[in-house]
Amino acid sequence: MSENISIKQRIFDAIAANRSISRIRLAEKYQIRLATVTEVTRQLLSERFIVEAGEDSSTGGRKPVLLEVNTEAFYTIGLTLSRSCLTGGLFNAASESKFEYALPTDESLTGTELLSLLKKVIDRLLKAAEIEPDMLKGIGIGLPARVEAAAGIYNGANYYPLLKGVPIKEFLASKYNVPVIVDHDVVLMTMAEYYLSALQVPDNFGVLFIGRGIGCRFIIDGEVYRGVSNRASEFGHLSLIHNGPPCYCGNHGCFERLANTEAVEQAYGGGKTFEEIIDLARDREEKALGIFNKIAEYIAMAIVNIQNLMDVEMLIINGDIVMARDILEQEMRQQLQLKNLNNRNLDPDKVFFSDLGRKVGTVGPAIMAADKYFLANGINIFPNRKV
Ligand SMILES: [Zn+2]
Repeated sequence: MSENISIKQRIFDAIAANRSISRIRLAEKYQIRLATVTEVTRQLLSERFIVEAGEDSSTGGRKPVLLEVNTEAFYTIGLTLSRSCLTGGLFNAASESKFEYALPTDESLTGTELLSLLKKVIDRLLKAAEIEPDMLKGIGIGLPARVEAAAGIYNGANYYPLLKGVPIKEFLASKYNVPVIVDHDVVLMTMAEYYLSALQVPDNFGVLFIGRGIGCRFIIDGEVYRGVSNRASEFGHLSLIHNGPPCYCGNHGCFERLANTEAVEQAYGGGKTFEEIIDLARDREEKALGIFNKIAEYIAMAIVNIQNLMDVEMLIINGDIVMARDILEQEMRQQLQLKNLNNRNLDPDKVFFSDLGRKVGTVGPAIMAADKYFLANGINIFPNRKV
């Protein structure tokens, strides 16, 4: 059985690596018996993981049929709840985004309302995609703060005080009859960076998410570090300024309060959005530039603290802050250098900005759901998986 799985994996990987290849070329190039190639590709075709796509014109005589990985083999949905909205995305088997849809939320959100919002977003995505219901193979959802991952229960956040014991996994599994992954949002984003990033991500690294909130998580020796209650590494509440502005957590001068996208909007004032303030900074408007310089310094301060504590090989910054990379990166790196002069452990070149873009919140949960479906069919899509 395991031999069968590994040959399936080899052939699937070979087809993916070649983009498009015939059975006979597969057999020659990878030295696999043609009968085995025929048998395994028949199975992959019946499972829809590959498709026949035209003929090989490079050979004379009878032209062999080409095989390709089927990016539309199945679909998954990834959802993420922030302080202000619930966003869902529908992705194909290659984790390419097909549709996205969001609904606003606020702190009066109740458990019943959250379940109904989830259903609304998912139904809207399925309708937009016009796919057969059995083509949906998994749902993933990333949630802030208090998440019981294994049981799939959500216990809210400081800004969602009414959410307690919300049975998200049970509700979605019964409504859509697919496997459901429920986890901390930054855990899922960290896994997405580990598996999807074009950077050479090592087995010891961290993700610093800066958006409406600030979160942080680490992969240590290839595994996510969760802490005892899945709330590890809440560095958003690292206190950076003694007697700084009050934070909803009860402390003062927290990193999240000083450097999230809302802090940028509050510092500028006049109802300008984060994106508008980025545009002003690009036009060299002094007030906007000053705000981003300050944010860059706070980020550098936080990174130095985080890196002194964790000593990881790489730190990836993701979330909406990446949109302002061109404005704050230079100042951030200068500050890292200044704050680090005598600490050889802290190489500013270890800090990167994510290449996964704004969809990192939805693609993380979606790809973990896709991974589950591939694995159930004997295919491992993450070559650097340790466990
Ligand atoms: Zn705080």
